Amino acid sequence: MSYQHLFVNASSANLPLGKVVCVGRNYAEHARELNNPIPTEPLLFLKPATAVVPLDQPLRLPQGKGDVHYETEIALLIGQTLSGEVTEAQAHQAIAGVGLALDLTLRELQDQLKAKGHPWERAKAFDGACPLSHFVRPEQLPNLHDIQLQLHINGVLRQQGNSSQMITPIIALLQQIACVFTLQPGDVVITGTPAGVGVLASGDSLELAIPGVLKQSATVS
Ligand code: ZN
Repeated sequence: MSYQHLFVNASSANLPLGKVVCVGRNYAEHARELNNPIPTEPLLFLKPATAVVPLDQPLRLPQGKGDVHYETEIALLIGQTLSGEVTEAQAHQAIAGVGLALDLTLRELQDQLKAKGHPWERAKAFDGACPLSHFVRPEQLPNLHDIQLQLHINGVLRQQGNSSQMITPIIALLQQIACVFTLQPGDVVITGTPAGVGVLASGDSLELAIPGVLKQSATVS
C-alpha cells in the first residue's frame, strides 16, 4: 500500500515522503521501564521512507524475528527546510502537521544489537516499521508542549503521556536535530514514546489518539 502524507480530512499535504528522524528515550519513565540510562542529549536514529506505511491499513509485522513492540509517539510533519542553527520561531513555523506514529521495534533483536554495540536499524528501520496517522494542522494544537497521547489495545489503555513530559521538548528537539540532519519538507520527526510499551499480536485492534483532536484505529493482520 503506497503512503502519502494526508491531513485528517483526507486532503493531501502535498509534501513528498522523506526520511523519519526518531528520538529514543525522550520520556524518563520509558527509559526506566527498559532499564536504559536517561540520555544527556537526544538519542537520534533514522528510519528510511520505505519504513513508512499508512496506520489505517492492516499492519503486517515481521515474522520469525521475535517480539514486535509498539511505541506510540507524537509525529511532526515538516513543511519547511530546517538546517543548522534555527530559531524557536523557525522551528515552530516549519511544522506543517501533527500526528501519531508507531515506532515498531523488534525488541529482542534490538537488545541483541545493543549488547553488541551495533546500530539499531535491523530492529527499527525495516519495511513497515513506521505506521503514520493522518495529520492535523498545528493551529489545532495551540500548545505543542501540552499534547496528550494515548494508545488503547483491544479496548484497554496501554500508553498514556503528554508532550510536557518530554526530556527534550518539541521545539528544542527540532532545533537540535537541524544541527545534525537537515530536515526537508516531507520529512517526519517522531518524538519518543511514553511508558507502557509492549508486544503486538496478530488480530490486535489499536486506537491511537490525541484526545479531542485526533483519533485513528489500526489493526494487526
Ligand atoms: Zn521510539
